[in-house]
Amino acid sequence: MNCVICHSPRIEVEEVKEEILLDNDVVLIPVKLLVCKNCGERYYDRKTMRFLEKIEENLRKGEGHLKEIGKVLMYG
Ligand SMILES: [Zn+2]
Repeated sequence: MNCVICHSPRIEVEEVKEEILLDNDVVLIPVKLLVCKNCGERYYDRKTMRFLEKIEENLRKGEGHLKEIGKVLMYG
């Protein structure tokens, strides 16, 4: 498979941190995804999409173990 954006064949599995925005909080979810090494495009399969949706749903219900690792800051 080649990247649909840049047509590079360099697509590899990589652990990335997906961001879920909860009001003013950002929650990082580590997931393994296919990522284009050339342009950074991320490819999500159905399983990963469902996994992330489920986590978001749980977080909105106040479930799930979270630890604080930094701050979210806004400039200006
Ligand atoms: Zn690409």
